[in-house]
Amino acid sequence: MIEVEHLWKAFYDERRRTTVVAIENVSFEIERGQFVCIVGPSGCGKSTLIRILAGLEQATAGSIETGDRDPRRPPAMVFQEASLFPWLTVADNVAYPLRLQGVGKAVREERTKPLLAMTNLGGFSHAYPHQLSGGMKQRASVARALIDDASDLLLMDEPFGALDEQTRIGLQQELLRIWEQSKKTVIFITHSVEEALSLADRVLVMSARPGQIVADIAVPFPRPREVLALRREPAFGELTFKVWQLLKPDDAAAEELAAPVPATAMPPARITVPPRSEASSAGALDKASLAALVKPPARDRILQIAGMFSPLLVLLVWEALTRSGALDFRFFPAPSAIFETFWELVTSGTLLTDTLATVARVAIGFAMGAIPALALGLALGLWRLPRQILNPIFSALYPVPKIAIFPLLLLLLGVGEMSKYVIIAVVAFFLVFFNTLTGVLQIPKIYLDVAKNAGASELQLFRTVAWPAALPGIFTGLRLAIGTAFVVIAAVEFVGAKSGLGYAIWSAWQTFAVEKMYVGIVAISAVGYLSILLIDLVERLTMPWVRQ
Ligand code: ADP
Ligand code: MG
Repeated sequence: MIEVEHLWKAFYDERRRTTVVAIENVSFEIERGQFVCIVGPSGCGKSTLIRILAGLEQATAGSIETGDRDPRRPPAMVFQEASLFPWLTVADNVAYPLRLQGVGKAVREERTKPLLAMTNLGGFSHAYPHQLSGGMKQRASVARALIDDASDLLLMDEPFGALDEQTRIGLQQELLRIWEQSKKTVIFITHSVEEALSLADRVLVMSARPGQIVADIAVPFPRPREVLALRREPAFGELTFKVWQLLKPDDAAAEELAAPVPATAMPPARITVPPRSEASSAGALDKASLAALVKPPARDRILQIAGMFSPLLVLLVWEALTRSGALDFRFFPAPSAIFETFWELVTSGTLLTDTLATVARVAIGFAMGAIPALALGLALGLWRLPRQILNPIFSALYPVPKIAIFPLLLLLLGVGEMSKYVIIAVVAFFLVFFNTLTGVLQIPKIYLDVAKNAGASELQLFRTVAWPAALPGIFTGLRLAIGTAFVVIAAVEFVGAKSGLGYAIWSAWQTFAVEKMYVGIVAISAVGYLSILLIDLVERLTMPWVRQ
């Protein structure tokens, strides 16, 4: 049913510019209806392998044949990590695959009920995942993977790894019962040798990274199996021991394997150890060709750079439209004509003076607003009492259109620069504050718990967890704030300034100097665009862990 041939998986590490081989030249076949377990040390590529089989990850080299399986219907999967949607109830989580298929609510409920009962979640169908224990969550994930009867391949990545032994044995037994009825093909990953031998028809043993299959064991125990009763069989103990020998990194294991097996009532296992030399000669890849396969193609880089210049394309189209007469040149002068005016303004120095005036107002006002907003957002996010007292004040002030207070600021601060700084500061403050606060409040509690448990002081909690975890929210706030700051500064300079790009646009309007008006618009947009690029750059530098 499944035929994996010379499968390789390598990852490219962008930062260190190296290739990490996770799976090295793995080949195996799985028959329909077989229950196959894969065991191997942590980090040997088990999850990677199963993710490739699930179609969630692309193999670097090699082929996977899935026989007559419907390629549009991905196999059901139970993930290693917590994978329930926090926004759905347990019952809705379990029924999720059916919902995607358009199955009606009544049928979904009917199909969900027995699965919830089977996984001992009957009383929790309306609970949300955060109300469940870790084991209960994992049981719900198993139920979700079982709900689609039509799916004939079930992939399980250490599904019971986080469960207590008692629950685990119960679920193993249940899984065997369901499997014997459904005859689904199961690929089950586990680090527990006993679990593998209790469940599987066949156990594939993987070596440490880069993962290779070092043994293929036909498990001889008759079915139906009693998971618990199996454990007192001497043959079970013997085989467990043998598998542990196979997992040993050294070759001493081979000798111990050859030792005579004590007589038991059970038939002996058939263990096939693929010869290393053969495995590495067929389908072998050297380091260089592997690196070539996983390195991001040059095309990506070129596209990325080209993307920075895509606004130029708009200008070219505009130029063509004006020249062909499709656009009225009095209102939409050609970019080349605008450029001429631009050049005049550059050489006369007016453009520079205006740009610098605007940039200085935005930069100073932005710093005045964003820095306290960051500090306050982080502080209120972490401390509930001040949050409860102060947050309503900010929430009430937030809807006030900031530009509306400008006349008041003119009155208070005069027409000088200070009134401009303050209006930008106010605008930046609210956007940065609320986004920072939200960023902190959305930090997964587990990270705060880890820090507290490790003995973090308040300051350390702030520095090592709250700050990095809130960064995505902070950058959203900074981006919104800089964009809005340019909108506001233009408006403010229209009415209350004798310099700056906003003033230049306004006075161009008064003299019907349309080209000058455009130069002003383009200049203020360009400065805004550059400031966003700057924030992007800072973001990439401060958050190297975020996947691009
Ligand atoms: P496990 O057998 O414990 O499930 P995994 O398949 O998760 O192991 O990982 C195998 C190896 O591949 C590990 O060394 C891991 O560091 C590496 N790896 C997995 N996913 C990625 C990734 N997205 N980028 C880089 N390396 C990865
Ligand atoms: Mg894993």
